[in-house]
Amino acid sequence: MHPLNEQATLTKILARVALPIEKLSKEVLFDCRMCGQCILHETGLTCPMRCPKNERNGPCGGVRPNGNCEVFPDKPCVWVQGIERAQRLPLWREHIEHLHPPVDWQLQNTSSWINLLTGRDAVRPRGWTREDGTWTRTNADQRG
Ligand code: SF4
Repeated sequence: MHPLNEQATLTKILARVALPIEKLSKEVLFDCRMCGQCILHETGLTCPMRCPKNERNGPCGGVRPNGNCEVFPDKPCVWVQGIERAQRLPLWREHIEHLHPPVDWQLQNTSSWINLLTGRDAVRPRGWTREDGTWTRTNADQRG
């Protein structure tokens, strides 16, 4: 268990301070939807939660030939944007290839900074494992 998890009061105080700062800064900079499990550095600094399907592994099969969204034809697909932007990043360029587990909706409107510190954002359904920061889907035959 992460040491911060044993300090529930301290964690609550940190979360109370961090939440409005994170919300304000990331809403302005990235149109953040406060999912509480940030993967911006793996998506070309493009928030995947702006996708109307909340895809964490995109683009979906509905992306249009011009790179626009299937749901909102007048808007660019956020995943196409993410892939293009990732190529221009000095860091994390290849992270766009990473596989992501489903969103944990229990973390909605919590601080992803605190969830990262406490390790709460690494809690995922059985069948997903993370090694060296990379998620993999466990083979169904190996699941206990
Ligand atoms: S991935 Fe989540 S925390 Fe990160 S910018 Fe998007 S909604 Fe906000």
